Amino acid sequence: MSIKYVYYFGGTSSEGRTDMKNLLGGKGANLAEMSNIGLPVPAGFTITTEVCTHFYDNHHKYPETLNAQILEALHKTEVEMGAKFGDPENPLLVSCRSGARVSMPGMMDTVLNIGLNELTLKGLIKKTGNERFAWDSYRRFVQMYGDVVLGMKPESKEEEDPFEHLLHKMKKKKGVALDNELDTDDLKKLVKQFKKAVLERTGKEFTDDPMEQLLEAVGAVFKSWGNDRAVVYRRQYNYPHNWGTAANICAMVFGNMGDDCATGVAFTRDPATGEKVFYGEYLINAQGEDVVAGIRTPKKIAELQVEMPEVYAQLDEIRGKLEKHYRDVQDIEFTVQKGKLWMLQTRNGKRTGFAGVRFAVDMVHEGLISKEEAISAGRIPPDDLNQLLQPIFDPEAKRKAVEEGRLLATGINAGPGAATGKIKFYADDAEAYVNSFSRDANGKLPEDAQVVLVRQETSPEDIRGMQVATGILTAFGGASSHAALVSRQMGKVCIVGCGDLKIDYKKRTVTAGGKTLKEGDWIAIDGFSGEVMEGKVATKPSEVVQVLISKTLKPEESKVYQQFAELMSWADEVRTLKVRTNADQPDQAAAAIAFGAEGIGLCRTEHMFFDHILTMREMILSTTTEQRKVALEKLLEFQRSDFAGIFKAMKGKPVTIRTLDPPLHEFLPALDQKDKQKEVAKMIGVSPKSIEKRIKELHELNPMLGFRGCRLGNVFPEITEMQARAIIEAACDVAKEGIAVEPEIMIPLVGFLPELKAQAKLVHAIAEKVFVEKGMRVNYLVGTMIELPRACVAAAEIATEAQFFSFGTNDLTQTTLGISRDDYGSFIRHYIENDLVKKDPFQVIDFDGVGSLMRIGVEKGRSVKPDLKIGICGEHGGEPDSVKFCHRLGLNYVSCSPFRVPIARLAAAQAVLEEKNKK
Ligand code: PEP
Ligand code: MG
Repeated sequence: MSIKYVYYFGGTSSEGRTDMKNLLGGKGANLAEMSNIGLPVPAGFTITTEVCTHFYDNHHKYPETLNAQILEALHKTEVEMGAKFGDPENPLLVSCRSGARVSMPGMMDTVLNIGLNELTLKGLIKKTGNERFAWDSYRRFVQMYGDVVLGMKPESKEEEDPFEHLLHKMKKKKGVALDNELDTDDLKKLVKQFKKAVLERTGKEFTDDPMEQLLEAVGAVFKSWGNDRAVVYRRQYNYPHNWGTAANICAMVFGNMGDDCATGVAFTRDPATGEKVFYGEYLINAQGEDVVAGIRTPKKIAELQVEMPEVYAQLDEIRGKLEKHYRDVQDIEFTVQKGKLWMLQTRNGKRTGFAGVRFAVDMVHEGLISKEEAISAGRIPPDDLNQLLQPIFDPEAKRKAVEEGRLLATGINAGPGAATGKIKFYADDAEAYVNSFSRDANGKLPEDAQVVLVRQETSPEDIRGMQVATGILTAFGGASSHAALVSRQMGKVCIVGCGDLKIDYKKRTVTAGGKTLKEGDWIAIDGFSGEVMEGKVATKPSEVVQVLISKTLKPEESKVYQQFAELMSWADEVRTLKVRTNADQPDQAAAAIAFGAEGIGLCRTEHMFFDHILTMREMILSTTTEQRKVALEKLLEFQRSDFAGIFKAMKGKPVTIRTLDPPLHEFLPALDQKDKQKEVAKMIGVSPKSIEKRIKELHELNPMLGFRGCRLGNVFPEITEMQARAIIEAACDVAKEGIAVEPEIMIPLVGFLPELKAQAKLVHAIAEKVFVEKGMRVNYLVGTMIELPRACVAAAEIATEAQFFSFGTNDLTQTTLGISRDDYGSFIRHYIENDLVKKDPFQVIDFDGVGSLMRIGVEKGRSVKPDLKIGICGEHGGEPDSVKFCHRLGLNYVSCSPFRVPIARLAAAQAVLEEKNKK
């Protein structure tokens, strides 16, 4: 039997189901499912994703049996809809829509009104009695087919869409503003002009053959799987390029046949805030694309209750039915044709982090889903929690801005958060501008690199610019426009439909509220309220941060906080992996605890030294051990009090303190900083010349692979001794106050067992001395970082001495890949864009390479000590996929920066659920 490539849907005999998404794509599977549960779906059929992959593997050719299968499904569609494809009397028109297994909003192409030609047009006029409508449909078809199938869509901003140009000319000539103000004659002329443009551009007449139109449209939809924006989108969300898209051929129903027709999109709940209200918009007498493209600003769905009460009631009932059936918030598309409602699509609604949390918590309370479902990755990607932790505008600063007359306009609040940035009008300009800045050691861009993309509306072509922008502001469009959907998913602050903005792309200005701002001027947008303000506006912490960290808001005053806290408590019930934090200061430690950290996984002692840089320089530049000891004595004081502060903040939770790690010259004045050299020379009591000489001696060609890590403590044991003393003394002092302490001393960059042995011996000797001096003991551990390939493969030996391991995946990535963590910025973008690597390996663990070494490290370490405590403290410890990997490796904890702690907690819980689901 030949492979089944085509699945019919409609009436009561659909061949697909919702769980066939891989084959039918999300749209196709759900169209079939909707008709299975009795909802009104126009009939049609889905051409599977396998045909798309065949198409790519076979030089854009279809499988042989496809044509016959299409004809069979088309026939069923004709019977169900009571019309015939290509029939001059009673023509059936169809749409061809993409639909991959995950939704990729607006990234691929669609062709509507397929089957129209001069003959079927007459049939359509006869059938509908509406000549203008028929010609408008034909005009739209020629334009869409020309753009999508014949490749006439402009590729750069300098090019103009030939159809838009002609349409614009016609509207100007007639003195009208909107497309629907053109009359039948105008439309007839436009069709002629459009066809002429096609002939001029392609050298071929516009095709009248319905079957050719259909097959070509399917090919164009398949090809759009490979277009730049779809590829960028997949890369961003890590979807494989070989999935392919399905093509859905669906009988056309028309929302633009007159005033008893409408088209709309809606969410069963508010996708921005999560509130349980029917949320959507519609346009009377329009086609679906008009709503999504944001060309006419649509009406709120509540108004449909007044304009079409029966349709509204039916839609509201369907809303409840869909939520119960899919057990999640749905994003639906519908059309009303001559008073009859048709459902064109349903899918799980894209949501902001705020809405995701609220949907999940509310649905558990409503008994729709379980707690485990609520915290699953499909509902809340852990990174989305970021949005709940993001800053908001300081109300004082905002009030002042408004008082000063800087409020320019108000639009639709489509993506919550506060964004201030420089205005850019074109996505590619925004991209080039932001990419011209470099990131600091923490991966942060400077303030000047913040951009707000200001556009009439966005289109899928703008995705790269949207990715780099801090905020997105559009003049047109509603809450379901492309800008809104995509921003929401990216977690960008976004305002749409801000009709008061007058954008002049040529002059690169935007005018609103009586003011004109230029490209590069600062603008601030409030994605919670929709307000657009001139200039910069100061931000303040989010509600969650205010409750937990600054304690300026009571938990009972913040619904967002309460939902966040409840959800996190469910995650904590499930997860087994502990979450610690990387913190070097008591305030960071306290913040991390408030976010749920269960200990410190990495305290980088060198960060503390930056506050005492002069003394540090004195220590490093000393030429004798005696001189060095004088400086170390001073540093001991500082370190002891710093550690005591951290122990107190952590109240008995484990604190991993790492001995000195970075190359020493990082602390030294540069060779040309003569003043600073003199200052140190004076402190130590030596000549400036000798300081200069010492700096030269310490210079290294490749410091990250040089005199650093435990090599420092092995060559200068007095440094480790001082640090060990500071830690143990602080621990004793704090324990004496009745506060429990759990110090873990960690030796960095160990490759050979003797390196660790020597350091551990020093630490134990000092600890014993301190215990005698203090007349008391505290428990402590001495362990090591595993951050060199040799340490992974020699982990069995190293574990004979180490009381714990902590993977330093920053250095382990650097040394495994031979890629400098400081210098990879120059080529990584090229690597990612060309699929030479899947992800930035310094953000997501390189599972096959670095991950394999980690696995060896774990296995070998635990072969010697089965209960060996193992964690990770590289930056990957707060990245959800890496956290899940660490869970699978059997680590005891991950450690990450304080603001990523909630993200890691949720990812750790999801790792447990994903493991359970696999079994
Ligand atoms: C690491 O290498 O992963 C690590 C945590 O240490 P650092 O980043 O301080 O080198
Ligand atoms: Mg390191």
